[in-house]
Amino acid sequence: MSRVGMGFDVHPFSDDPGRPLVLGGVTLVGERGLAGHSDADVVAHAVADALLGAAGLGDLGAHFPDTDPAWRGADSLRLLAGVVALLAAEGWRVGNVDVSVVLESPTLAPHRPAMEERLSAVVGAPVSVKAKRAEGLGSLGRREGVACWAVALVERG
Ligand SMILES: [Zn+2]
Repeated sequence: MSRVGMGFDVHPFSDDPGRPLVLGGVTLVGERGLAGHSDADVVAHAVADALLGAAGLGDLGAHFPDTDPAWRGADSLRLLAGVVALLAAEGWRVGNVDVSVVLESPTLAPHRPAMEERLSAVVGAPVSVKAKRAEGLGSLGRREGVACWAVALVERG
């Protein structure tokens, strides 16, 4: 049996100059970070929600509540690994995941290979990452935050 799931996440940029920008498990040195309870890795969160949705296991907030101090500042790849383990426990294996990150800046192209490598290693299946500018439109176009969409295919025999 195959099932698909989609995930979406969005985080505003933080006013805290000390916050790192982490996307797909990769820290983009010198860039303004995103606000959030964990490391605010919008890409890892969207991928996790796509996987949970595909397996019919709810959403990330239900499994890792942002009121839980254990996840404050957490590495979201650890959350993602936890989600992959939940799926594995239900007999699901991941076919692939495809990601679209929408942000006006910074340019993701130089970081895409590292993001794909980190995410694929955690998910245990190919993860492709694409970046798209918002063409100046709306809050994303005004560089107020970053949004991410992800689609996942999961299978079990
Ligand atoms: Zn998030």
